[in-house]
Formats: sequence, structure tokens, C-alpha cells
Amino acid sequence: MQVEYIIVGFGLAGMAISKELEDHGHSFVVLDNASQVSSRVAAGVFNPVILKRFTPVWNADEQLDNLFPFYKDISQRLGGEYLTFFDTLKVFKSVEDQNNWFMACDNPLLEKYMDPKIIKSEKQGITHYEGFGKVNGTGRVLVTNVLDDYIKYLKDKEQFLEIPFVHNDLEISDEFVTYKQIKATKVIFAEGYGLKENPFFNYLPLTGTKGEMLFIKAPDLQLTEQIKSSLFVLPVGEDIYWIGATFNWTDKTLNPTDNGRKELLEKLDTMIDVSYEVVDQFGGIRPTVKDRRPLVGKHPKHKNLIVFNGMGTRGVMIAPTVAKQLYHYLENNEPLSKEIDITRFE
Ligand SMILES: Cc1cc2nc3c(=O)[nH]c(=O)nc-3n(C[C@H](O)[C@H](O)[C@H](O)COP(=O)(O)OP(=O)(O)OC[C@H]3O[C@@H](n4cnc5c(N)ncnc54)[C@H](O)[C@@H]3O)c2cc1C
Repeated sequence: MQVEYIIVGFGLAGMAISKELEDHGHSFVVLDNASQVSSRVAAGVFNPVILKRFTPVWNADEQLDNLFPFYKDISQRLGGEYLTFFDTLKVFKSVEDQNNWFMACDNPLLEKYMDPKIIKSEKQGITHYEGFGKVNGTGRVLVTNVLDDYIKYLKDKEQFLEIPFVHNDLEISDEFVTYKQIKATKVIFAEGYGLKENPFFNYLPLTGTKGEMLFIKAPDLQLTEQIKSSLFVLPVGEDIYWIGATFNWTDKTLNPTDNGRKELLEKLDTMIDVSYEVVDQFGGIRPTVKDRRPLVGKHPKHKNLIVFNGMGTRGVMIAPTVAKQLYHYLENNEPLSKEIDITRFE
């Protein structure tokens, strides 16, 4: 098989660059071995406001401007619907929280997303607080659905192989690379936390942050919005709520833990006052980076090896925009912005 690109990894990053290449008529094949699950466990929420600090998400406007057409195109291509919208309500625990909210609403970067009106009404099943602040423009991508449908679509075109990429088996020359039976001009590594096993790029400061979450069933909790306090409580239908997430910088395993569950339940019990049953627990490793910016660019020595990683805690918003930049960098020689270019670590 001869293609222009081999893509290693098909999470949100691999999918975004696959779409860019396909949009521009380039040939590629994807290899994925399901060894990382960050995209598959992600709630898929997009929210332009960091609610811990009331600050805007990095490049939020541009990322949202790219996100909607990206999924509209994918829906047309695959025939499914992958976006849902809901309000996000930030819990105010004190009058000081309310004052900070008002101040943030005056920030020109935030005013279109943050509603200055405080919601005083109680929410059934939610512990009494000093009201809520509403963020507009939030929602979620049904990540597992879109990945599954996209994989099926690529498999039908013989562009997707469910196999591991073994880095030592890659033969590299100046003009092309050969991996087993595949000859290509470039390889794009979109391996998420799997980058740690990649001998070409594991010098990059990918830290990785494990996140665990729960599904609970709570019929008495009648929410239509996402509630955000020390955790998020997100309705996903049929009385099921997504509860998350933990942040653990030391444990790099994918399996759910008793400590993770304990932490989530302790926090949840301060947020809701109805009975519930835990129906599932799962986790994954977010590909986070020391300076919280993506890792994009060419290997310092082998220019046909490319990395596309570091989506961090916000792969849903970041991947479509950064994939676009990566495409124009590779095919049109446009420079990458300094904050995402891996040369910042050379
Ligand atoms: C608990 C949790 C909740 C989250 N919630 C959100 C959220 O609500 N909103 C949001 O925007 N982000 C969220 N994130 C972050 C988001 O999931 C990540 O930013 C994003 O998924 C990273 O995508 P990726 O494609 O880089 O990595 P991954 O999704 O990990 O994909 C990497 C792929 O590469 C494959 N791979 C790796 N090595 C190899 C190899 N050698 N050979 C073949 N294949 C290989 C893996 O199998 C995998 O499929 C969350 C993450 C976690 C863990």
C-alpha cells in the first residue's frame, strides 16, 4: 500500500487530522490499537469559560468557530448527529463567588458567554447554594459515537487498521517511510498518552493526568443543565448522570480505583441530596503538557515524522483548530503558532 500519510492513533486528534487530510484530497491510512481511551471516556463537553477561575479558555472564540462547522461536515459525511447543547450552571457557594462572577461578566472576552443575571431558584435534588451563574454556548460532542462511526466509514474504504504501531519497525529515509507493507511520505503520531512509548517524541514534556468518572442513576434529580461545582453533574438521559472528574498526576493506569470512586462520591454527596445508584466507573489519561499547550511539529532530525498531541483537558475544542493549523503547516508551509510548536522544547 502506498499513501501520503500514516496516522497513528484515532482519538479526537487522529480524527481531526484525518478529516483535514480527507477534506483536501490526500491519501492516508490510520493505525490504532485501542491502547489509550482518553477520547472514549471524555464527557465531550465544550465550555469557553474556565469556571474555577472565571477566565476564558485559550483561543476559545476561534476554537468554537471551528468546532461547529467541523461537526456539521462530519455529520454530513457520516449521517449521524454528534452535537448536543445545554446550559452550564456554576454553583455559587458564597456571596464572594457571586461578586467574582459579576466582575468576570465585564471582561470583554467573557461577556458573550457569561450571563450576569444570578439564578436564585432551587434545582430539585441539588443542595442549597447561593444561586447559580449561567454560561451560554456550552454543550457536548458524543465522542464515542462519532469515533465509532468514523472508524466504520474509514474501514469501508480500507483506510483503518486495528493494529499496534511498533515504532522500531519503522524504516525512515529522507524521502519516505516504510512501515511493514505501507509506504508513505509522512507519519503523524496522534497517540495521546501513548506518546510516552514513542522513541521519536518521548523527549517532549507530556505529563498525563488520569481522570476518573462515574455514571449514576438518580431518578429524583430532574436536571436538564450541567451543574458545575467541585465536580460536574451532567444529564445524559434516562435518569443517568455523568459525574466527574478526578485529576491524578501520579497514577498512569487506565483502571478505575477505589480512591477515585471515594473522592467522587464524597464530593458528589455535598452537591446533591437525593438517593442514587452508581452504575459505572471508568477512567483515562488526559494527554496534558507542562505548559498546557498542544505539541505539534516535525521531529528535529526526521522531518517526515510529525507529532500531533497535547490536547490536554480540552481535546473537543482544541483538536479541530489545531488540526487545521497542522494541515497548512504540512502542505502549505505556513508556520505553526509558537505556543503549539514543539520547537519551544528544543
Ligand atoms: C476523564 C476524562 C474526561 C474528559 N472530559 C473531557 C471533556 O469533557 N471535554 C474535552 O474537551 N476533553 C475532555 N477530556 C480530554 C480529552 O479526552 C483529550 O483531550 C482527548 O481525548 C485527547 O485525544 P487524543 O486523540 O490526543 O488521545 P486519545 O484519545 O488517547 O487517542 C490516542 C489514540 O492513539 C492510539 N494509540 C496510542 N499508541 C498507539 C500505537 N503505538 N499504535 C496504535 N495506536 C496507538 C490509542 O489507542 C488511542 O486510540 C477528558 C479526558 C478524561 C480522561
